[in-house]
Amino acid sequence: MTRLGVDVGGTAVKWALLGEGEGEGEGEGEGEAAEVLGTGTVPTPSGPAEVVELVAGLVPEGAVSIGIGLPGHVDRAAGIALFVPNPPGEWTGFPVGPELSGRTGLPVAVVNDARAFALAELRTGAARGRSDVLFAVLGTGIGGAVALAGEILTGPRDNLGEVGHITVDPAGPPCCCGNRGCAETYAAAPGIVRGLDGLTTAAAVAAAARAGDRAATAALGRAGWALGVALGDAVALLGIGTVVVGGGVAGALDLMLAAMRDEFERRRPLIGDVAVLPAALGPWAGAIGAALYGGMP
Ligand SMILES: [Zn+2]
Repeated sequence: MTRLGVDVGGTAVKWALLGEGEGEGEGEGEGEAAEVLGTGTVPTPSGPAEVVELVAGLVPEGAVSIGIGLPGHVDRAAGIALFVPNPPGEWTGFPVGPELSGRTGLPVAVVNDARAFALAELRTGAARGRSDVLFAVLGTGIGGAVALAGEILTGPRDNLGEVGHITVDPAGPPCCCGNRGCAETYAAAPGIVRGLDGLTTAAAVAAAARAGDRAATAALGRAGWALGVALGDAVALLGIGTVVVGGGVAGALDLMLAAMRDEFERRRPLIGDVAVLPAALGPWAGAIGAALYGGMP
């Protein structure tokens, strides 16, 4: 029994094939590690129809389901993209699920990519065995998700958990969401590199900081501060004591941690100890989570 999971990003489509783990299906428990049979990356095609064609071509013989994670809001029941601004092409209203199901004859789950990341880390990754967890995915933007009582919460548009759009400074830089000073404007890659000449990626900023560059160190401290404010708010709101941080920018998490902890520490009487765990599944978490969703009834 093989399940295909696909994680559609702005520049790359990542896929993972899951085989059957120990035990049947993924159930409610946290015991079953599905086996990853294969993974891969392909450049993101020019639009949603082309993505459907690409994914249909990835389906192996004997596959039983497909899960597809999109960076935005979706209508899960109808399998339709609602607000997916980053990948190329016009996604709004595109019936990803019906199109892909029609092409392949398989059931297709269409989910938000941060929720897919969270499900994978909850079932088989850093948060395995925990039931109440806040997730943040740092990349070009910041995705987020919430697990309560062992379930990933979804919301009506698969939009529950947008921790990246918590305001940390109402007078801060404009955000793609229409607000100003969201955590994302400081702690996602474009916010981290802002104002740093010659450093164009978060990884370059992290390398410079490790080599002693003060401006790079300050930028990552600022990112940690923004994350600490936003995640501290979310932790206080939800009563959660565990945070899992992943995504491409999370390689610099250690350089943000001190500033983040300062924000948590001030609120200790309210929120207590907050465990900050780096994600465990690396770049494949989103695709693995999408595959897990695809196998759900
Ligand atoms: Zn925002």
